[in-house]
Amino acid sequence: MATINDNYLKLKAGYLFPEIARRVTAFAEANPEAQIIKLGIGDVTEPLPDACRAAMIQAVEDMGDRATFKGYGPEQGYAWLREKIAAHDFQSRGCDVDAAEIFVSDGSKCDTGNILDIFGHNNTIAVTDPVYPVYVDTNVMAGHTGSASDQGEFEGLIYLPITADNHFTAQIPAQKADLIYLCFPNNPTGATATKAHLQEWVDYARENGSIIFFDAAYEAFITDPDLPHSIYEIEGARECAIEFRSFSKNAGFTGTRCAFTVVPRSLTAKAADGSEVDLWKLWNRRQSTKFNGVSYIVQKGAEAVYSEEGQAQTKALVNFYLENAKIIREKLTAAGIQVYGGVNAPYVWVQTPNQLSSWDFFDKLLHTCNVVGTPGSGFGAAGEGYFRISAFNSRDNVEEAMRRITENVSV
Ligand SMILES: *Cc1c(COP(=O)(O)O)cnc(C)c1O
Repeated sequence: MATINDNYLKLKAGYLFPEIARRVTAFAEANPEAQIIKLGIGDVTEPLPDACRAAMIQAVEDMGDRATFKGYGPEQGYAWLREKIAAHDFQSRGCDVDAAEIFVSDGSKCDTGNILDIFGHNNTIAVTDPVYPVYVDTNVMAGHTGSASDQGEFEGLIYLPITADNHFTAQIPAQKADLIYLCFPNNPTGATATKAHLQEWVDYARENGSIIFFDAAYEAFITDPDLPHSIYEIEGARECAIEFRSFSKNAGFTGTRCAFTVVPRSLTAKAADGSEVDLWKLWNRRQSTKFNGVSYIVQKGAEAVYSEEGQAQTKALVNFYLENAKIIREKLTAAGIQVYGGVNAPYVWVQTPNQLSSWDFFDKLLHTCNVVGTPGSGFGAAGEGYFRISAFNSRDNVEEAMRRITENVSV
């Protein structure tokens, strides 16, 4: 009989969101009249920018004409998109990133998982706690961990706690980590990193020969002019960092699918024979072999993000969600609840009132306010006592949810 990849059996059976769904369904069945508002899963709600839609409609027409029809495109993405990305997202901020270092893909979720294909199996891996679960689970699947403890921590990973005490920015570890996952602005905590903090990580990585995986999916939500948008704003990052970006959250592409990964030409890591190998070449080979590119239509939609109208429309979209986040922050703060994040990020990280556990607060909000959020403990043991509220929703839903919480939750 064929055998399986046993590492999959170590996974915590996708506990968090199924468990939320189970509790919400049970409540809805028992209370069919309840108007439940979901501020849980981090998906966008507002329609695509007009500029992106118009570009994709035109691209569909191109596909209908023999003269402009496109078959397979370059696995790395069309040059016209990669050049716009390099110019607008990096060179305009003083980052030395070339179009050839941009790899267009169908998502950052896949890229942050797939990147492990080009790394060895004996690397020491560091993640924050709480963390975006994809980083952990893809390492479990690849066999880079032992089994999970009762608290859900996998043997063999370095967990770096992020709490209010360290402003949700991990302390640089004393031990050596070969691969480090950083996400700023952060999902789930909504925290951001200063240039000084990222410089510490880059210095650490260069001293230890580590590679930083920098997930900047929420970069567009940064409004503070002093905060870095890209790790390549940091001196030395071209020698130690891979950056992941996505059109999911800035342009509402969660269902349209387009993202990109930056692999600088200057990045190297060690082969078994001790030689230093270019990571760009390996990632290029990986993508060319296992991936056939993003559809022409979708890349045209992504390109439109960089047009004048596209820039104005995506900015308005991001500002809409940021205003939701502001409303959430202000209403909860006024109700005496301690909140973090939600300023340069679409997530508000709530300290559960009255020392409730994350799941107890989840149940309380569901039962007394009919509002759904995400228990912080679902993102890691250090998320216990916290709760994530997403700003991705309609204004009406956000205002109604906050009205219910301020009227029904006593602190
Ligand atoms: C939403 C999100 C992404 C984007 O994923 P896509 O696959 O591009 O939709 C990446 N990282 C984090 C932390 C996210 O929350």
